[in-house]
Amino acid sequence: MNIEIDTKPFLKYIRKIEKFTGFASPGSVIGTQMYMIAKKLLNFKEDEDIYVTCETSNCLPDAFQAICKSTIGNGKLSIYDTGKMAVTINKKGAPGETVKGVRIILDPNKTRDYPIIHKWYFNTEKVPAEKVIPELIKAGAKIYSWEYKDVKVPKNTKKVVKICKICKEPYIARNEYYVCPQCHNKKKEG
Ligand SMILES: [Zn+2]
Repeated sequence: MNIEIDTKPFLKYIRKIEKFTGFASPGSVIGTQMYMIAKKLLNFKEDEDIYVTCETSNCLPDAFQAICKSTIGNGKLSIYDTGKMAVTINKKGAPGETVKGVRIILDPNKTRDYPIIHKWYFNTEKVPAEKVIPELIKAGAKIYSWEYKDVKVPKNTKKVVKICKICKEPYIARNEYYVCPQCHNKKKEG
């Protein structure tokens, strides 16, 4: 499937990122292109709720936070840090339901055709943002690969707040211990 990155919405999204972070980094430009590819593949609207899992905490998440209001705080953006330039995006679904999603990656076999991007990607040379970004725009969707993925929507679980037995501070209990994660880790280390 051939996908075009349309210039007008692309520039609009870049302006949103600039407003949000002050500067559109190469990683956030990549995030924008990934968003636009997913939008076409999954056919969602700009104001529609989407769920995003970024596989790196570097720059990429800012694009989604600025463009589509999927944020860490509202739970629609999560980081599964594998250190990869990859993202999985899916539409909203009912708890327990399986919905269609897509995983998109900056494909090293394809960036090879764009030496400046490739050097930046593998960090074999210091390439300034102002040199990489025009190349990313020139390459468009050609440097990405994607595959559809079934995503299971997590079931709603009731938030349980407990008082930690050690520090006496309340915390959202996600484990079976009676101590908060901080005290639990300290106990493990000590
Ligand atoms: Zn504690």
